[in-house]
Amino acid sequence: MLATVALRRTTGWSGEAGLGPASVAPCGTVSGDQRLCMAAILESWDLTVPDVPPRARFYPLEPIGIGTPLVEGLTSYLLRLAEAHGVPVGALTDELRRCAATALPSPGLKICTCPYRLLAYSVNGVEESAVKWVYVLGAATLRDDLKHLTLLAFKDFLCSLSLFRRFRTWCPACYEGWRASGRSVYEPLLWSLRVASVCPLHRRSLISVCPHCERPMRPIMSSSRPGYCGRCGGWLGAMPDGPLPEELSPASSNYWVSNAAGELLALAPRARAEPGALRRAFRENVEACVVHLFRGNGAEFAKFIGCTATSAYNWRNGAVTPRIDQLLRLSDRLRIPTAAFLTAQSSAEAVDWKAVRPAVEGYALPILLHRPSEEICQALRLALGERPAPSLSEVATRLGYRGTEGLRRVSRSLCKRITDNHRKSFGPEPYYNGPRPRICGRRKIEAALKAALAQNEPESVPHIARRLGYTSSGPFFKPFPALCRAIYLKIARRKAARIRVMRRMVEKALRQNPPPTLRALAVQLGFKDKAVIGRYFAGSRAQLLALRKALAKKQAVKLRNELQRYTRAKPAPSMAEVCCRLGLKRVTASRKFPIEYDLIVARHQRRRRALAVLRRQKSGLHLSRSSRSQKQRASGFLGAGSLPTHCFN
Ligand SMILES: [Zn+2]
Ligand SMILES: [Zn+2]
Repeated sequence: MLATVALRRTTGWSGEAGLGPASVAPCGTVSGDQRLCMAAILESWDLTVPDVPPRARFYPLEPIGIGTPLVEGLTSYLLRLAEAHGVPVGALTDELRRCAATALPSPGLKICTCPYRLLAYSVNGVEESAVKWVYVLGAATLRDDLKHLTLLAFKDFLCSLSLFRRFRTWCPACYEGWRASGRSVYEPLLWSLRVASVCPLHRRSLISVCPHCERPMRPIMSSSRPGYCGRCGGWLGAMPDGPLPEELSPASSNYWVSNAAGELLALAPRARAEPGALRRAFRENVEACVVHLFRGNGAEFAKFIGCTATSAYNWRNGAVTPRIDQLLRLSDRLRIPTAAFLTAQSSAEAVDWKAVRPAVEGYALPILLHRPSEEICQALRLALGERPAPSLSEVATRLGYRGTEGLRRVSRSLCKRITDNHRKSFGPEPYYNGPRPRICGRRKIEAALKAALAQNEPESVPHIARRLGYTSSGPFFKPFPALCRAIYLKIARRKAARIRVMRRMVEKALRQNPPPTLRALAVQLGFKDKAVIGRYFAGSRAQLLALRKALAKKQAVKLRNELQRYTRAKPAPSMAEVCCRLGLKRVTASRKFPIEYDLIVARHQRRRRALAVLRRQKSGLHLSRSSRSQKQRASGFLGAGSLPTHCFN
């Protein structure tokens, strides 16, 4: 409307009647002098549309500490952003999720659908969820530096295994210091790493239990705020009761590892972005480290840094990269900064491994075993003449080698002759030396068979053969067919009698109330495996199974009645208590009685929530009424979708 009026005025006075909206202006009555006078007073208006920068959905808060060891984590940024808007973090993440649903370019890139209270530290990590949250937060705040609040710079290098803690962890001294000096309170990314157990500033252990409610908490909960407990709202900068934890010495391993983790995070913005660059740099540096500090001895290297020889071998040939704890332990054992292993050899800041010496005590350059080949050949020739002939590994041990590979490298032919000699002197006698001696005489075999037949429970013929040193019972059947057959018949009769006894026991079991299980019955019959019942008494087995099934049905009805009684019990018991009282497994309860299970769990949760509210009211640490009403108002804004859309760029 404004533009139309302006257009009418400028073009109207210039006299171009009939062109555009100016043609409707009544200008025919104005005299020539008046027109000149008005042109001198009114200047023409600029009609070009001004260049308006894009508006951010949320305040584009400045991330804290990018490029330093105490760089902020993405979870902390979310908390600070929610606080800046005066809304609970849950409302903020819900809004972000709505933005993501409408604005994302590809349907594959959907933000994680788990509820905000289940957001874990993995949002700060190297996985797909971190990429999505960085993208969505970046779009909502118009910031492109949020990826530095995660470990995405090391995406190709670090695996997500054992990277983050499950619970929120902090340094109370840091919180207190920031609040006292009026600086922003935030959570460094370092605190969320599982490997970092010490604050690099205060050299004290990090803590993860609230000093007020004495419970651990998830990284982000519905009422989480930077520096405050997500459960009771208490200030986390308060020191826990009891004596202060001691300051660790700068030489301690925990302190070094935490510090090295901080250095790694500080490296993130400078890390090379092209895929595989970090892996290549690590492989080159480890190889150079082994060559120059361990004289190329991979086994010594592995032993010194406390990893397996296979891991060290795989790092050196680039097949795998280390986990974050292995990388930091490598740095700790050698006391060489982590950056030394991740800076490419081709770059200007590359480490000169020839000049580096580990700063750790107890490091000694491995001694290189070197002996002239001629000396070793001489020793091998001497071993050839020895009687009894020694094995090659004996010779190697005598000469100070761990394996035989070194000797084979010196002279393969001599080693082969030593091995052949040894084999000949201890190998079995060849057949052409004459027929092998008889194991047992004919009389001895006959006596053994007769003795077996005289027994109440005769030993079987193959058993007797094995006992006397034969591999099969062939030599027994040919000379003594009648004896062998008599033993076989006696064994068969005994077996039939045993089966008759067993049948009586099985029939008795069928009449028992409650009927025993198949396994219990098998044990009664003297077997470990219940399959034996099916093999001999298939019909009885089917009957027993049917009886057990009917019994199980009856018990299920009884259990359901019991569970229904607990769904009305007051105070509402927990599922664990109910299972304990009924002797029921939790998983069985949830699978067989899902309705009762859900009801009991829901009632117990309601009771716990009510108790928590009571506890919070009692402790008097709940949010003040004014700030709550402010929050309610703010969440009302969010719900209506009318958040402030100012841009402070
Ligand atoms: Zn601290
Ligand atoms: Zn608490």
